[in-house]
Amino acid sequence: MRYKCHVTIKYPVWACILAVVAAACVSTPAPTPAPRASAPATAPLSAASASPAATPLPTPSPTPAPAYYVVWTLDFEGDAASDQALANTAAIADELHIPTTVLWNPRAWTTTSVTAERAAAMLRWTRDRAAKGDEVGLHLHMWTDFVRAAGVAPRTAPSWAARGDGYDVPMTSYSEDDQRKLIAYGLKLMADHGVSGVTSFRAGGDIADAATLRALVANGIGVDCTAVAAGSFGSLRLPWTLRSDAQPYHPARDDANSSGDLPILEAPTNGGNTYGYTTLSIVPIARADLAMLGPPGRPATRSKAIVIVSHPATIDAVEHAAIESLLRSFDPYRADTAGGPLRFVTLRDLARLWR
Ligand SMILES: [Zn+2]
Repeated sequence: MRYKCHVTIKYPVWACILAVVAAACVSTPAPTPAPRASAPATAPLSAASASPAATPLPTPSPTPAPAYYVVWTLDFEGDAASDQALANTAAIADELHIPTTVLWNPRAWTTTSVTAERAAAMLRWTRDRAAKGDEVGLHLHMWTDFVRAAGVAPRTAPSWAARGDGYDVPMTSYSEDDQRKLIAYGLKLMADHGVSGVTSFRAGGDIADAATLRALVANGIGVDCTAVAAGSFGSLRLPWTLRSDAQPYHPARDDANSSGDLPILEAPTNGGNTYGYTTLSIVPIARADLAMLGPPGRPATRSKAIVIVSHPATIDAVEHAAIESLLRSFDPYRADTAGGPLRFVTLRDLARLWR
């Protein structure tokens, strides 16, 4: 069975549930020197720790002075996105002067369900974003046609929605060796289409484990944002044990939920998923996000990262307005317009900052 809209089940409205927190009040921001989001790359590992739901928050260790960072990620799912939806997406980024992290899905090139013309239009849009300084990373779902094209035997179970096309099969159901091959194949397809230097990743369904992270490292990926708060997803239980406000950390080699020395940054998607929201219904997400920060008008005392996810293919006029509302809620904190401690950055920037 196919769900009427696959993203409905793909991202339950967990962020909304987590949003029972007080609204941050808006006051006049005081000028605050904000750290640059362009610290030198590469990474001795931090001792930041991920934590199970009951234990304290991990301690971030960004290199510059404490600051707030917000990342707006855009997942292509491997199906078609319309020109109108792409235009809506770009308009948000351009109007609000926010860099995006586009997580491209190379399945568009391995399926007959996306025309060559559509895939080309989506790629053109993505490259336009990159030309403006946005980041392009990788997003994979285990579509059977993509998996087969990668030379791996496809699976249709387990799945979070019983679709039968592999879209809803967790990457973690494949062996580490196969995951490594699937990532490598995705990166090769991107490089073949002129997109190279990819260092960021998110797995479909918010489901990844230590084997996934090791497979990413083997492919040169430096930051993953698959992690979310503990919970379930469709019919599957998520492998994460993190709190809803979990901060970036370097995972252990054998446990994606614990800190360790794996040379990849796990930057949890802790800021909500905008799919299906309106300007009204997204208010609790904005409140939950702001609750992770200190009061506006004050310097940051501790660095925080907030990672938000949207999907270019679903951004119609209603979601467009909802996203703008969510992103504008950070206005009183912004370094560029309000003299505050908050910057919009990319995942690649987080990897440089949380060293
Ligand atoms: Zn996805």
